[in-house]
Amino acid sequence: MDELIAQANDGEPTHHSRLTTGWIEVIAGSMFSGKSEELIRRLRRAKIARQKVQVFKPEIDSRFSHDHIVSHSEMRHESANIRSASEVLAKVDPDTEVVGIDEGQFFDNALVDVATQLARRGVRVIIAGLDQDYTGKPWEPMPQLLAVAEYITKTHAICMKCGQPANYSQRTFESEERVAVGAGGMYEARCRRCFVPHADAPTVHPD
Ligand SMILES: [Zn+2]
Repeated sequence: MDELIAQANDGEPTHHSRLTTGWIEVIAGSMFSGKSEELIRRLRRAKIARQKVQVFKPEIDSRFSHDHIVSHSEMRHESANIRSASEVLAKVDPDTEVVGIDEGQFFDNALVDVATQLARRGVRVIIAGLDQDYTGKPWEPMPQLLAVAEYITKTHAICMKCGQPANYSQRTFESEERVAVGAGGMYEARCRRCFVPHADAPTVHPD
């Protein structure tokens, strides 16, 4: 991030003073692209700098843990479950400097306003989430957040079929539900060429 800030503000002061201004960072990508891992990495660095950090995730995502966000690689960070974006505003302490939100796609568009309000208040807001659903459609509110964010990171997985960088979450079971929180083996990462916008048989690797 420091490098990005330096690039973006060439010739300008390279730090945001947390006393005066906040900003929004979005980490977006497909499943298995390391979004939560990247979020946790940033949160940990903030904590090492002794900044006050609060983390939230939607109630729907209780896959691994009720009070932690957990990456597929087992990195974890404590978090509070919330049911709606407006709960974030109510729960953020006045002296909190960094707010992390995981699984941003499970919130409604109110999250855009919440993030904007916090940033204006001087908070560094970091939101991770899926940018597309299993049909490849942009998944609100992530597109709106990408538009208003100061900093964007697109994470990529590796295509299970061909090994190219993957930008899509391929569903491998039949369901028309947009939200079907996956157990292992229900989705796989695919590149643009290998992705199909409906359920497809899982890739089998002979080994
Ligand atoms: Zn591929």
